Amino acid sequence: MKLIFEKGREGRGSALLPPCDVPIVEVEEKYIRKSDLNIPQVSEPELSRHYTELMKNTFGVNDGFYPLGSCTMKYNPKVNEDMAKLPEFLEVHPLQPEHTVQGCLAVMARSEEYLCEITGMDRMTFQPAAGAHGEYTGLQLIRAYHKKRGDEKRDKILVPDSAHGTNPASAAMAGFTVINVPSTKEGYVDTGELKKVVGEDTAGFMLTNPNTLGLFDEKILEITDMIHRAGGLNYYDGANLNAIMGIARPGDMGFDVVHLNLHKTFSTPHGGGGPGSGPVGCKAILADYLPSPLVCCKEDGTYRLEYNRKDSIGRVKGFYGNFLVVVRALTYLLTLGKEGLKHTSESAVLNANYMMQHLKNIFSVPFPEHCMHEFVLSLEELKKEKGVSALDVAKAMLDYGIHPPTMYFPLIIPEALMVEPTETETKETLDEVIAIYKQIYEEAMNHPETMQDYPQSTVVGRPDEVKAARNPILRYRKKP
Ligand SMILES: *Cc1c(COP(=O)(O)O)cnc(C)c1O
Repeated sequence: MKLIFEKGREGRGSALLPPCDVPIVEVEEKYIRKSDLNIPQVSEPELSRHYTELMKNTFGVNDGFYPLGSCTMKYNPKVNEDMAKLPEFLEVHPLQPEHTVQGCLAVMARSEEYLCEITGMDRMTFQPAAGAHGEYTGLQLIRAYHKKRGDEKRDKILVPDSAHGTNPASAAMAGFTVINVPSTKEGYVDTGELKKVVGEDTAGFMLTNPNTLGLFDEKILEITDMIHRAGGLNYYDGANLNAIMGIARPGDMGFDVVHLNLHKTFSTPHGGGGPGSGPVGCKAILADYLPSPLVCCKEDGTYRLEYNRKDSIGRVKGFYGNFLVVVRALTYLLTLGKEGLKHTSESAVLNANYMMQHLKNIFSVPFPEHCMHEFVLSLEELKKEKGVSALDVAKAMLDYGIHPPTMYFPLIIPEALMVEPTETETKETLDEVIAIYKQIYEEAMNHPETMQDYPQSTVVGRPDEVKAARNPILRYRKKP
């Protein structure tokens, strides 16, 4: 397929700009470009065909089963889009006076109220643009808290080895030293090992619960208490809240600060790079440090933005975060309601367990009892016996029109496939997919030699990964 830059001809185009209705301003010489801007010059039909072709070459939730573990690729109801398209939300300017954007401020205030209720937190900021950005923000709150108390020797963040890769990365970016905490062979935090590393230099502990193995750590109260008694704070990675909404709350588990991924659990589209939203909620002890501004409500019922907060860590993003993502998430919350949200989590857990139980006698399931919203398969034996890797199996799935699960993650499981079916799949779809997984497994056992040839039906076959790593071409360069 040609790039759009390679299509079209000089002078062709479909931009019908309205006549200028504002005074023309002379721009200073130094701001004027020296060369022409390289933009594609294509006609409207060419443009339309280009995007249709691109669309056919992608795979999204609307194309089929997409069980990307830890990413929660659930279906995003269209009504969310309808709300985000309302001109009253779409056409506001971030610098408009507060009295003209009361509805937008109400959206933020109500979203804060509901999400605080769901997580057991007291206040929330919507500035962070993604989960990792939320982690960074939350860790800055922890830093500010210790600093305010004159307890600045606390420079270590404890992170279990089952954590999402962003956890240690965010802690390092926030200037902390990361201490790795091993898991038990059952996949939980090893409290004996945790005891050894927790101490006077512990700033905080980061945990995903249920963790990336799809397991809920039942010792959670003991763990968070251990950190608190040592003077540290507990950070909850709530990127995947899909198993516990309306059922259990990080705030009740002893966590002080949490980020959510609205673009996962709360049903706003993701993949392809955004926009996302990673709001950070915290207990009252940390609220003074949250980024400014926060939305407040005056006694007369009007909303305003509170800027003068002297202990705030400052801004982490321009203006108020990705506001339209928050509109979608609030729509989702309002359509589901309290009971619907709980039912969502229960269905997500049920779907994952249904698939796991059907697959556990074929693939090896390292933690086979029961899972939360996702589970992990290990193809280590298949690799050893037949030379077929998790990658080979994942590529074969593409030919069946389904998206592979997350591969080679979590890192502590060799040849891992991490499956998160989500609640928006029917039993019929799950049955079909289980049959496909079984069929691929049989082929891998009986004809391992064919497994390197997949996929065969996709636009791009199997890329040469070594070449891609050694000689990456990361941006388009115009041919001279
Ligand atoms: C997705 C995810 C993140 C990171 O979220 P981004 O929005 O991709 O930055 C962090 N932790 C967990 C457990 C996740 O699944």
